Amino acid sequence: MTLLTRRSFVHLALTTAAAAAFPEVATAKESPDWRLNALNRDRYLKLIRPQSGEQAVFCYWRKDKGWDMDGYRQACWLLRDVQYNAQVQMDPGLLDTLFILQIWLATYGQNHEIRVNSGYRTAKHNSRLENAAKNSMHLYGKAADIRIPGVSPKLLSDMGKMLGLGGVGLYEKQGFIHVDRGSVRSWKG
Ligand SMILES: [Zn+2]
Repeated sequence: MTLLTRRSFVHLALTTAAAAAFPEVATAKESPDWRLNALNRDRYLKLIRPQSGEQAVFCYWRKDKGWDMDGYRQACWLLRDVQYNAQVQMDPGLLDTLFILQIWLATYGQNHEIRVNSGYRTAKHNSRLENAAKNSMHLYGKAADIRIPGVSPKLLSDMGKMLGLGGVGLYEKQGFIHVDRGSVRSWKG
């Protein structure tokens, strides 16, 4: 996976909220490899799809063997377009983004069950959404809209921005954040 250099990482703003809730994050800039360190273990995800009532815990990457295809397939299934019953191969980097968010939350005793409002979206589905970007990363299996009960969307988006691995959109009123594997950028919806 692509990781940012130390220089570009230290340019990212650390918010006091994220730093207070996640002390390790505050010192993370001292270690340019902190994301690699975080990924250097079996990578489990716990995902919930409220729309379909599904939830699963699975390992999509193993420290000793690399990609676990059963787990990866499970991720692609859970991140599918539930409404239009379609799935694609999700960007593996998106899974890593979700994984790092999840282990941080778990490390600090926060709820870390990621509820996926939207993962992959078919073109038809996307075109019918009023506020969706025409060329949305959801169309390419590179984005997810997520929320975690008990964790404010603001804090979640601050953490997402700090990862510096792609785009982060904060939809505070709607109660979720968007993360994607496009260029590093952030916005408020
Ligand atoms: Zn989105």
